[in-house]
Amino acid sequence: MHEKGAPVLIDELEDARRPTSAQALRRLAAIYRRADEAYARFSCPASAECCQLSRRGRQPWLWRVEWIAIQGALARQGRSVPPPRADGACPLLDAEGRRCTVYADRPFGCRTYFCERAAGGRHPLEAVTGLSARLETLALEVDPDASAGGPRPILEWLREGPR
Ligand code: SF4
Repeated sequence: MHEKGAPVLIDELEDARRPTSAQALRRLAAIYRRADEAYARFSCPASAECCQLSRRGRQPWLWRVEWIAIQGALARQGRSVPPPRADGACPLLDAEGRRCTVYADRPFGCRTYFCERAAGGRHPLEAVTGLSARLETLALEVDPDASAGGPRPILEWLREGPR
């Protein structure tokens, strides 16, 4: 609360605009739901081939708010951040390397990536672009400093652990 006539500090204004963790995670879940809806007609062999990060030479990039959601999923399972896998696959896969263990909280990049073996027709690029912009807006509200660094590869988040 400000005294009448007292100057309003920039930090206080930023704090007032910053959503709480619960609000941010609710908004993130809504963005994820929309992404799933946009890809509802898509299907794939569910081989987890796209989670073979080293072999494929690509990995999803996450905003910190997405990493927070994954940490929440791990905490609910009573797990800590898993170590790297010898096969170079995403450490969030199960031991057999077949299923994502944080599927409901997997990042935007995992929800909107389908390899050439997927069926579903034309990618909903317009929806993905719009949702990507919403995600960026949310991420920067949660973490204004992220404007300097932006999203980061999932293996970097996993390597650094809780944040
Ligand atoms: S987060 Fe899940 S879906 Fe995404 S690469 Fe890792 S195991 Fe695969």
